[in-house]
Amino acid sequence: MSVQVLLKQIPKVDRVLGWPEIAPLLEQFPRSELLRAIRTCLDRFREQLITGDSQSAPEPHLIVAVVRDELSRRKRMNLQPVINGTGVVIHTNLGRSPLASLAEEAIHSVSQGYSNLEYNLANGDRGGRTTHVEGLIRELTGAEVALVVNNNAAAVMLALSTLAVNREVIVSRGELVEIGGSFRIPDVMRHSGATLVEVGATNRTHVSDYHAALSDSTALLLKVHASNFAIVGFTAEVTLDELVIIGRERGIPVMFDAGSGCLVDLTPHGIRGEPTVSQLLAQGADIVTFSGDKLLGGPQAGIIAGRRDLLEPMKRHPLMRAFRADKLSLAALEATLRLYRDEYLALREVPTLRMLTMTRDELSRWAGLIIRRLKRLIPAEVMFYKQKGESSAGGGSVPLLQLPTTLIEIRIQDVSPSQIEAALRRAATPVIGRIHQNRFLLDVRTIADRDILALTASIREAVTALTRKDQ
Ligand SMILES: *Cc1c(COP(=O)(O)O)cnc(C)c1O
Repeated sequence: MSVQVLLKQIPKVDRVLGWPEIAPLLEQFPRSELLRAIRTCLDRFREQLITGDSQSAPEPHLIVAVVRDELSRRKRMNLQPVINGTGVVIHTNLGRSPLASLAEEAIHSVSQGYSNLEYNLANGDRGGRTTHVEGLIRELTGAEVALVVNNNAAAVMLALSTLAVNREVIVSRGELVEIGGSFRIPDVMRHSGATLVEVGATNRTHVSDYHAALSDSTALLLKVHASNFAIVGFTAEVTLDELVIIGRERGIPVMFDAGSGCLVDLTPHGIRGEPTVSQLLAQGADIVTFSGDKLLGGPQAGIIAGRRDLLEPMKRHPLMRAFRADKLSLAALEATLRLYRDEYLALREVPTLRMLTMTRDELSRWAGLIIRRLKRLIPAEVMFYKQKGESSAGGGSVPLLQLPTTLIEIRIQDVSPSQIEAALRRAATPVIGRIHQNRFLLDVRTIADRDILALTASIREAVTALTRKDQ
């Protein structure tokens, strides 16, 4: 049959609107919304005939199903919750750190009304928006002064723009890192107006390299934490201690871009290589910059902690205004930081820390529990298998760390792992897993208790969608 003939077989919008399965939808959706959905779907079917992707006009039941899908898709927020089954705890593409319940409540309590964001309740005059968290940061890190901006990239930018404009900043070639495509230390440096002075080689940098690079225009010695890569083999790194000695000798401040911003010592939990901010400051770093939503487990934020004489000018810099954090982030950050007053509480209540420190046994039990709960409501054609595996921290934290975990493999008769992956990804609550050795896997480390209901619904939805396409 020619394409023209097939196109004529596609019904008109008004006719579809009158179908008995479609008409009742008018009670749930505005007429304009329904019309738009029908039109979009019919256009799509026409397109498929024209491109040859389809060789026959769609049956009415398929049109109805697609219209329903389109309506529910349009109703859904574009930015929406997903279930992270990747096991990558700090997953930048999936929103990095999930917030603690108290942080969520803090956002809620200041979002629907007014707040004392920049109002000093004690004396009734203007206050500073970051004063709500600065005291906490000082308390938790031992810093003289603290400052909060939008993210760590902004923190680094602000520090360099304030302290090193038209002057030189010395960085080891082994630390000229790129974080997630758009943040490259050399680029940030250039835009801040500072001149980058590279020293050493990619794999080896020595104290003497720094000495040779020092000049009258050296403003800063910068050390960047290797948060998303590791250099192994024949390597030599100038330690923070050594850098501090050089800085003190010459009266030049040392800045450490810590990336992650760890506030509790995680080595007892098998996570090495992430020094805490208070350790870095105690070691003599004059400025430490770090993220709010990596290991700290809070909202997106950049924190600068350090010496008063270096940070006060940053507070007055025009970029401070451009980089200022929003009230919702500040509320969540304050609530998260409060949890760190008690390390035990932080490890239990900050989801990022909780997930990273789950033991092998806990994960195995958790996987068993999830499977039992899923099986109760999911048809027997879906099979679940428990497997051992490994998860990583992700998001620019502890790059070589592989944590033992438990995976759930999902198998459906006559359905390929990539079909399962796609169907779950497109469910009302999308589920993101991974395919490894031709198996579709969910890592239970990043699946929360409150995800289970939605996970069940999504798997059921995926099964329905997969069997519908098979017909
Ligand atoms: C992640 C990271 C940044 C950027 O932090 P954002 O909060 O994502 O802006 C900068 N430096 C290092 C070392 C990092 O790991």
